[in-house]
Amino acid sequence: MLDMATTHTDVHDETHPDERPAVSAFGTHHEHVVHCQDEETGLKAIIAIYSTALGPALGGTRIYPYAHEDDALADVLNLSQGMAYKAALAGLDFGGGKAVIIGDPDSIKSEALLRAYGRFVQSLGGRYITACDVGTDAGDMDVIAHECDYVVSRTVEHGGSGDPSPMTAYGVFQGMRAAAQHVWGEPSLAGRTVGVEGVGKVGSHLVDYLRADGAEVFISDIHAAASSAVTDRHPEVRALDHDKLLAQRLDIYAPCALGGALNDETVDLISARIICGSANNQLAHDGIEKRLAERDIVYAPDYLVNAGGLIQVSDELDGFNHERARSRVTHIFDATGEVLSHARNAGIPPSIAADRIAEQRIRQLSRLHPSWMGPTWMAGR
Ligand code: NAD
Repeated sequence: MLDMATTHTDVHDETHPDERPAVSAFGTHHEHVVHCQDEETGLKAIIAIYSTALGPALGGTRIYPYAHEDDALADVLNLSQGMAYKAALAGLDFGGGKAVIIGDPDSIKSEALLRAYGRFVQSLGGRYITACDVGTDAGDMDVIAHECDYVVSRTVEHGGSGDPSPMTAYGVFQGMRAAAQHVWGEPSLAGRTVGVEGVGKVGSHLVDYLRADGAEVFISDIHAAASSAVTDRHPEVRALDHDKLLAQRLDIYAPCALGGALNDETVDLISARIICGSANNQLAHDGIEKRLAERDIVYAPDYLVNAGGLIQVSDELDGFNHERARSRVTHIFDATGEVLSHARNAGIPPSIAADRIAEQRIRQLSRLHPSWMGPTWMAGR
């Protein structure tokens, strides 16, 4: 799954449509928003390209049963902007895009629907490159690829790079090391106490990196099986329930489960000096980042440190090379250090510093080529 950012939209909002404020792409800074409909297969999709200033827009296709079309539009606008910032901060030459298909993946997904969708992606001539996200998997990308050249995160048999989670964990580990360097003057996590919330695909690999570096690790997961898979491998790691993990004295807290982990309730309970984890949209609402800064907690922005998966799948476009991708992911150490230093020097929270650095890179390079016009245009430059 290439899950880059989540939305603040409440998809279960039952407000009458007449009372709901209309969502419009005009008024946002998006470059291109496409509604796709195929009555025969029931396909209703929206593809949003936030920016192609850095290169073609790369981002996953999410299939989700949005209650209202407006919710789907709000989500795809938000997600595509998040992708643009993530790629810009990761130093990638990709813009930000995302697509949503409206419906329950278990009931609407069919070969015909995915192929119809693939034709819409193809019609954009490479300005948007799709990948897996919530509700889609590598096999679905193989089906889309029957109709479309602009697909990554396919199955390994078809040139895909495989599960991106270990690479995402490696990037989070690099971000954590940079935050440690920033706070304690050295990147080593040896002897540091780290609490990992959620030990699924990313969190479990993160524990491996932390133990190898000599950290003392506590974990928490709502699924006992996920915790025991980790404690079987690392008997010295202690599994706690959520409240106990938050109450535990920690040097570093790593949210690796769901979004919204940093909210009005949890923000005052956290004892850690550093927060750095893979979960998307950790800040439950605006203002939490200021509350963390007031408590002298260094927050490494999620979309900065969890870019490892994006870096991995983007590498597929050059013919995947694990070492090259890993070396690019190692750069998250430098990128995190830069964001934290900028935040300290400017007296602003790191999430705002990260946004500014991403916006500056997009703005500066858009002066060179405002939008990506496809391979022919690139060749003719
Ligand atoms: P996952 O589903 O494999 O793991 C999530 C784990 O969190 C599961 O073990 C689940 O039981 C646990 N969990 C759920 N709710 C919890 C709660 N309230 N408290 C404690 N544990 C809880 O997902 P993943 O792929 O490991 O991704 C984790 C997070 O990182 C997600 O937010 C995802 O969007 C984000 N992310 C993942 C990748 C990637 O490459 N997989 C890339 C970027 C961002």
